[in-house]
Amino acid sequence: MSESYDIIDHQHDVVVVGAGGAGLRATRGLADAGLSTACITKVFPTRSHTVAAQGGIASSLGNMSDDDWRWHAYDTIKGGDWLGDQDAIEYMTKEAVPAIIELEHDGVPFSRTEDGRIYQRPFGGMTTKFGEGPAAQRTCAAADRTGHALLHTLYQQSLKARAEFFIEYFAIDLLMTEDGECKGVMAWDLQGGTLHRFRAHQVILATGGYGRAYFSCTSAHTCTGDGMGMALRAGLPIQDPEFVQFHPTGIYGAGCLITEGARGEGGYLTNSEGERFMERYAPNAKDLASRDVVSRAETVEINEGRGVGENKDHTLLHLEHLGPEVLHERLPGITETARIFSGVDATKEPIPVLPTVHYNMGGIPTNAFGEVVTLKDGDPDSIVPGLMAVGEAGCVSVHGANRLGSNSLLDLVVFGRAAAHRCTEIVTKGATHRADIKPSEEKALSRFDRLRHAKGDMPTAQLRDSLQRSMQKHAAVFRNEENLDKGVVQINKEVEAFANVGVTDRSMTWNSDLVETMELENLLGCAITTMHAAANRKESRGAHAHEEYSERDDENWMKHSLVWHYGGAETKIDYRPVHMQPMSSDMDHVPPKKRVY
Ligand SMILES: Cc1cc2nc3c(=O)[nH]c(=O)nc-3n(C[C@H](O)[C@H](O)[C@H](O)COP(=O)(O)OP(=O)(O)OC[C@H]3O[C@@H](n4cnc5c(N)ncnc54)[C@H](O)[C@@H]3O)c2cc1C
Repeated sequence: MSESYDIIDHQHDVVVVGAGGAGLRATRGLADAGLSTACITKVFPTRSHTVAAQGGIASSLGNMSDDDWRWHAYDTIKGGDWLGDQDAIEYMTKEAVPAIIELEHDGVPFSRTEDGRIYQRPFGGMTTKFGEGPAAQRTCAAADRTGHALLHTLYQQSLKARAEFFIEYFAIDLLMTEDGECKGVMAWDLQGGTLHRFRAHQVILATGGYGRAYFSCTSAHTCTGDGMGMALRAGLPIQDPEFVQFHPTGIYGAGCLITEGARGEGGYLTNSEGERFMERYAPNAKDLASRDVVSRAETVEINEGRGVGENKDHTLLHLEHLGPEVLHERLPGITETARIFSGVDATKEPIPVLPTVHYNMGGIPTNAFGEVVTLKDGDPDSIVPGLMAVGEAGCVSVHGANRLGSNSLLDLVVFGRAAAHRCTEIVTKGATHRADIKPSEEKALSRFDRLRHAKGDMPTAQLRDSLQRSMQKHAAVFRNEENLDKGVVQINKEVEAFANVGVTDRSMTWNSDLVETMELENLLGCAITTMHAAANRKESRGAHAHEEYSERDDENWMKHSLVWHYGGAETKIDYRPVHMQPMSSDMDHVPPKKRVY
């Protein structure tokens, strides 16, 4: 190492990395339970991507139509195309009811019905009576700024519980023992310019998704898969990364999201012939079919020459018939977004939209308590001691091969809460920290120092741009053998090119060049596991639509992919079985069938 660093020490019972909905819900629960808790975040908590969530959070409260958590569980299993774990899905949909009441009591300013109950809107794939009944009104909303309301409330509750925050601290790497236990995390104070060693009995990764591996996405610039990158470098696998959700209504050009809640309120899509084409693809659910279905339909319309605009490369979302009052009351945020980013007055004309990368179903594999699991000595549920993952960084897996809208905010609070509960059971308050983490610490420091002084001739921004374009082109809505094979060659080259990256700023304070370079390395890990897993999966399921293998193949492929990245372009793929049985006898196992809407 060319330079030695002074390191500032911290000791906590639990360290949470990330202050989005998942991280804050965990932090608040831990602090409430009296565990000494640090929450580390690279951006100010209320700037986490959760703040941008619009449409809402699912829960079968039944305020506006008949509902049952078992129907919600059924929809989630079907929406995920039978790749979701039914035990975790049972837990999430059942806990959704108390979790929302808890948020209400915490102060989330939900929109209200006439009689004062929480307002609920229809969302894609959410039905009643096990898919046989009409659309469910299940998604609880605070206008179209639900994530904003949720995140601010959770931050305030965490402060009230006296959790300790380390804001604008960038987590670099996990601190592991030689036998694979997680004992802390190394972080860099971006403002103070110092390095910090956080020792903990449990580390909870809540670092969000990696939408920024793609050129056009709805996610914030901070969604760079740092937690996945850290897990991969610690020798752990990522589960199901090939399942990337495209949202059907990103604004053409800018990529900003128009919530599915817009179609929940009665919005619909048309092609260049003015046809409401979703009626052909999903005769029952129409515009409220699940996202993978609608994104594919749009892509087919465009590919067959029925796209709108000069280049016939997008479709139109109509809201103008809803009237200015409904738009003002229920969808004020997206009306503003449409005006700013596409120059359209949504009360008068349709919004140009296109499928845009939105969510990663894959992530760090965990059980229903948030504990990270891996395949070890033949055991597919082997717990990695000391490490948890929640929110979009994790893969429980409740979303399987395709997430239903409004199930992510739910996943954040339910599993953030579950992880906090689990810590109260397994962590002894104030226990001493004595594990030997020296080798892993040295590795983290030498990586940091190497990148800080990297003198290669490949600028970070150039390599990132090339990566984003390759992902966009080769791991798209529709995939085929030739395109995926080219994608693998391309991503392998890009991952290898990182060895030649160059950083121009060597300073320790506000060095955004170095931050972006570390983020890029994390993105590359996410991208290579995604591309290799996508090329490997010879079937179509949920968001993975393969032209040569156009059917779901339960016999050979009803299993989770696990992908390890060994550095360079080397990966390994193995599998974990899907948990097909629910957790209790409160619900029946949902057997696989054909997925039609
Ligand atoms: C525009 C948009 C709208 C959405 N709308 C909805 C919706 O209506 N309903 C729904 O259910 N879902 C919605 N989703 C999905 C959902 O919002 C996200 O999946 C969810 O918010 C992710 O939350 P999270 O807590 O896992 O991570 P995030 O909110 O992304 O937070 C990640 C946190 O990790 C921290 N972090 C990351 N890396 C590091 C590091 N190296 N060091 C320190 N800290 C780090 C960040 O600072 C941040 O605090 C939407 C997503 C988008 C993009």
